[in-house]
This record gives sequence, C-alpha cells and structure tokens, in this order.
Amino acid sequence: MTKPILPGAAIGVLGSGQLGRMFAIAARRMGYRVHTLSPDQDTPTGQVADVEVTASYDDLDAVSEFARRVSVVTFEFENVPAPTAEAAARCAPVRPSGSVLHTTQQRIREKSFLTKGGLPTTPYREVRTLEGLDRAIAELGCPAVLKTAAFGYDGKGQFRVDAANSAPEAWNAIGKQEAVLEAFIDFDCEISVVAARGEDGQFVHYGAIENQHNRHILDVSVAPARVAPKIAREAVDLARCVLEKLGVVGVLCVEFFVARDGALMINELAPRPHNSGHLTVDACVSSQFEQQLRAVCGLPLASTEMHRPAAMANLLGDLWANGEPDWRAACAFPGVKLHLYGKLEPRPGRKMGHLTALNHDPEEAYRTVLAARRSLTR
Ligand code: AMP
Repeated sequence: MTKPILPGAAIGVLGSGQLGRMFAIAARRMGYRVHTLSPDQDTPTGQVADVEVTASYDDLDAVSEFARRVSVVTFEFENVPAPTAEAAARCAPVRPSGSVLHTTQQRIREKSFLTKGGLPTTPYREVRTLEGLDRAIAELGCPAVLKTAAFGYDGKGQFRVDAANSAPEAWNAIGKQEAVLEAFIDFDCEISVVAARGEDGQFVHYGAIENQHNRHILDVSVAPARVAPKIAREAVDLARCVLEKLGVVGVLCVEFFVARDGALMINELAPRPHNSGHLTVDACVSSQFEQQLRAVCGLPLASTEMHRPAAMANLLGDLWANGEPDWRAACAFPGVKLHLYGKLEPRPGRKMGHLTALNHDPEEAYRTVLAARRSLTR
C-alpha cells in the first residue's frame, strides 16, 4: 500500500462537468484542495475548485504541469484520451488507472473484457464494415441497436435497426465507423450498481438503483430498486466481480438490463461516479463522490448506509424552454433537495441539475420527485 493522501493535499480532476463539481464539493468539505483541467472556462467544476486550468486535453505540457501540482489525478469522464492519462501518470498517480479507462472507453474492448470474464452482456456483434453489419443483422435479427464503439454517451452515436434492409442507413447514420450491433432487449427494467474499491481491495456498494431513461438519457432513479432481493444481490455480486477483474481503485457504475425472466445483462460500465448515484449525496451516510475521494486518496472507504429511500429526477435544459423554472415551487416540497450545476446555457438535453426526494417509501419518493419537477414549469 502506498501512503495515504491526507486532507490539505491537492487532487487533480480531468474534466470539469457536474461530476467533477460534486466531487470537488465532497473533497473541499474534507479539507482537500481541488484543481480541474478542461478546455472550458467558468465550468461547473471550476466554479467550486481551488484552481481551474483551461487547456486542451491534447496539450500534454499543460497536462504534465497540472499533474505535477497535485498529489493524485482522477477524472470525471471516461473519454480522457490515452496520451493525456499517460502524460498525467508520469507526474502523479492516476486513479482509476489508464488501463481501466482504456477498457471502458470503447464498447468493443469493454464487451470483450466482460465476455472473457464470463460476465453477462447483451448479445452483440462487432461491426467494422457495411458487409459486417449485414452479417451481424442476419445473425442477431431485428430489432437491434447499432452503437459506435468509441465516444458514445446518453444515446449519442446510436441507431435503432428495425429492418434488415436498413443497414446502409444505419451505417451512414453512425458515420461509418467501428461499432457494435446489440440485440434490442425488451427489458423489464434497468438498474445500476454504484460501487467503490480501495487500493487494498476494500469493496463497498449502494445496492441496486432503478433507472428510467427518456430519449436514451437518464430521467429518474429510485433507490432501493423495486426488484426482487435476489436480482439486487446478483447485480451487486456482478459489480464486485467487474471492479475486481478491472482492478479499479475508485468508483465504478455497472448498468444492467433486467430481462423479463429476471436475467441480468450488463449494458455499460462507467469508471466514475454516475448520474444514477447522485441520490447518494442526500440519502446516504457518504456519497459516491466521497467514496471516489477516499478511494483515490488511499483512505478507508465510508459507510454507504442509506438514511432513507430516495428518488432523483434530472433537470434537462428543455425545462428552460419558457424561461427560468420556478425554483420556489420545487423548494416548497418538504424532503426535496435542489441541485444545480452552474451551467450558463440551458440547451435541450443538457443536464443542468437534479432534484432528490427522500421518503420512507421509495414509491412515494418517486411520486414526489416527479411532482416537484412538474411544479417547475407550471
Ligand atoms: P447506452 O448509451 O448504451 O447506455 O444507452 C442508453 C439507453 O438506451 C439505455 O439505458 C437503454 O434505455 C437504451 N438502450 C441501449 N441499448 C439498448 C438495447 N440493446 N436494448 C434496449 N434498450 C437499449
């Protein structure tokens, strides 16, 4: 074990969105300093960090200089280019490591890692050419989803294939690049497990969280997930397996489809705190962001105990279509907490903030968070 990085030290975050912001808030509360690097200015993370560096991820001199000034580097999005992570790693420890990034930032690598490890995924085929796509459609059947292998999130770079003859259209739509074709799963529900692993192998998790998506973007999460205890246990066991096999030091989220027969299929991995874990900030003894901090600093991980069930609803830029949402109305709901990320421009589909409702009954938390969100635009 290396020596723990103690309060007072500076932590570097590559990326500057809301995940970095909530990480920075957790880190500053525990007396750490936070530096952030991204190509942007006045960012959600930069607004609450001690130091905001504006530089391209390809500016390896700037990345090295950034890493030299901190005790450890972590990241808040998995698409940090490999040379950036390598440049940082020459000057400071990077956690999770570049190899975790490498596996999880490309769908083909991620899926073959899972398959080789005997972990269940959605049925899929690798696609590199139009002819390959034709073959994959013939093998998997329709409906299916074509997803670019690299740099996809929130449904970007995806095309639903409903008919065998739509291969050329699908291939053009994703820009004729390396991809995977996945069988379209008629799932019962979607769940995720947010978990953390320390340098010494300590493992903690927040149990199964239930997720509803809208237009491929996470819309609402509920914890604990309203699934059979056996399914929740299996999901946690699979998540533990993923974190151990990848050797993660930090937080990782595993997203699952729950099939109609209760079988679990891993849809995606995110090697960082995840949108579905935002409710841990208000509902748990320690949030997913504090776990990330503790893990990357080599401190013991904290309790994940949930004070009360919770539901989280995302606030997308669409809510601003008719002007500023009515914050007073949402704040009038007792037990509802408002989080805004400090983003200046509310574009449609852009995650601007979220609401969390706490209640002894998850159903009631779910109803309340939706009512609070509706009240914003009435
Ligand atoms: P992804 O970006 O791959 O996580 O996809 C975002 C969302 O799209 C998922 O959470 C699902 O709601 C939906 N989706 C993606 N892939 C599939 C699939 N193979 N079958 C059914 N729904 C899917």
